[in-house]
Amino acid sequence: MKPELMENPKNNKSAVFKVEQLTKRFDGVTALDKVNIELFAGELLSVIGPNGSGKTTLFNCITGFLNPEEGRIFFYDKEITHLAPDKISLMGIGRTFQNVSIFPSLSVLDNMLVSIQQHQEENNLKRILHTKDIQLLEKEATEHALEFLDKVKLYDFRNDLATNLVYGQRKMLEFVCVLISNPAVIMLDEPAAGVNTSMVDEMKEFILALNAEEKTILLVEHNMGVVMDISQRIIVLDHGIKIAEGSPEEIRNNEQVQEAYFGK
Ligand code: ADP
Ligand code: MG
Repeated sequence: MKPELMENPKNNKSAVFKVEQLTKRFDGVTALDKVNIELFAGELLSVIGPNGSGKTTLFNCITGFLNPEEGRIFFYDKEITHLAPDKISLMGIGRTFQNVSIFPSLSVLDNMLVSIQQHQEENNLKRILHTKDIQLLEKEATEHALEFLDKVKLYDFRNDLATNLVYGQRKMLEFVCVLISNPAVIMLDEPAAGVNTSMVDEMKEFILALNAEEKTILLVEHNMGVVMDISQRIIVLDHGIKIAEGSPEEIRNNEQVQEAYFGK
């Protein structure tokens, strides 16, 4: 199969973002080599590939943590190439990290509240004066945060330090910290890695439920069971090159993909 942009599989829904000819080099390594990707509204698109194939680098370029050497990235009709990570996050692209990024010495609930605060536009003066408005906002934020924690079975842990959660719970916490600001796109970098089997299933169900609510999701995941079960479309990277793109069925039967994973 040709690694070209596919026809929109979601009934002519608009592209939420587009990655055009994206190239990122590190010293001698070309981590991404002229990669094109389109993500459509409401879609669950997965990016797979062997270790070191450029998946995390792709995430880092899209979310502003790395500057690509070539190529452009568009979020709806706005170019976001080379914008700072906080700007991109505020525009509505939320992500998790391969190495979970939460505040370990804050409580579970406070992690959520910090995340909400980062996305609120209330000015700092009001915050200092602690006006009624802010008190109301904080009360609403807390209720909202607790609702999300309940959805991922973390309500009972709300006052525990995040560091005391098991790894899978920390990943869930990071996930809902991203979700709570209602991003237009959520990018998940290996959510199932290092997580025990029962929690992998929970994670999978949670991602599916979000997608059923039309949330647009870009997933990087090594667990092929998860990827094949929940993705509508899959892109395969190998040594920074997009070698295949298609439905789970097409990817499963693609020879080039099998070679990339298992060798010739
Ligand atoms: P994946 O997420 O698919 O496992 P990465 O995107 O992490 O792959 O890495 C792609 C390639 O880029 C690898 O060869 C890796 O060693 C290299 N790489 C990634 N990040 C850096 C960095 N910050 N500095 C130097 N090389 C890097
Ligand atoms: Mg990675």
